[in-house]
Amino acid sequence: MQKIIPLTLDSPFSEGIVVVYAVLGETATLVDAGNPGEKSFYQLKSLLKDQKLSFKDFDHIILTHMHTDHSGGVSLIQQEAGLPVYVHDLARPVVTGGETEFNRINQFFNDFIMRCGADPSVHQHARRYKEEIWRDVHYVSEGDDVYIGGKPYMVVHVPGHSQTDILLIDEQKGITFVGDHIIPELAVNAFIEPPLPGNNHRPAPLIQYRESLIRSRGRQLGKCYSGHGKPFTQHIELIDKRLAQQDARCQQIEQVLKERDKNVYEICQEVYPHLKGGIVFLGLSQIQGHLDLMEARNEVMKVERGSIFYYKLI
Ligand SMILES: [Zn+2]
Repeated sequence: MQKIIPLTLDSPFSEGIVVVYAVLGETATLVDAGNPGEKSFYQLKSLLKDQKLSFKDFDHIILTHMHTDHSGGVSLIQQEAGLPVYVHDLARPVVTGGETEFNRINQFFNDFIMRCGADPSVHQHARRYKEEIWRDVHYVSEGDDVYIGGKPYMVVHVPGHSQTDILLIDEQKGITFVGDHIIPELAVNAFIEPPLPGNNHRPAPLIQYRESLIRSRGRQLGKCYSGHGKPFTQHIELIDKRLAQQDARCQQIEQVLKERDKNVYEICQEVYPHLKGGIVFLGLSQIQGHLDLMEARNEVMKVERGSIFYYKLI
């Protein structure tokens, strides 16, 4: 028998919480690791203690994706208990790339924000490089089996929310760890990310996300455990709702562009007027994702003026 224990941590992102799962069976697994920093680490440690557990009781950590609220706790947990960590193969450049990769990513976001017509000095979230060494990292890919609480779970790559998103599916029972791929409590962003090192073109995350959602829709999933809310079962209805919301957002952008051609920042200010400062990036990323989709559907075209991209209706 497997026991799945949700451990709900405070988080500055997504509804103010992030859920780590302790899965106990013949072996013990942590699914995700929470935010970076001691506060989150000690909160997780104390929630484990309530269950009469410590980090040393676990065999490994499996990450649903590389966002900081899910992967940030890895280094402190490893310092305490040396657990191996499993993550999707596309995390490799960030895990192994050090400061060079950090700078490449920063430069990409700086250029992206400028092309949107926004000001990186105001709208780029300032980050400083902090060296973090992970040990004993194992990379997984589509179709691999990983053992969670001693049972095999199949890895399904579902890029979109991030490039490294995976589902972990118990094919016998349908139990699925979905990370942030589908969450009943919030409509998940598909974040703009840089191309892989050596590539010139960034992924189109909303297009990927929709393809991933449609693939997940066709799967027989049972009880699903997400990174930011309660377990749920109705994944098909939820996916249909999210796809419809994205279509509605495209229609809203179409309305905004009827007046004249606009850049991503201008569209963002009309669609998300409440976003200010560093969090404007979230809106820019969302709008750009929808514009990628509208461009692929031949509804808009991109025109470069100066170094800024404007979009016009076709
Ligand atoms: Zn998250």
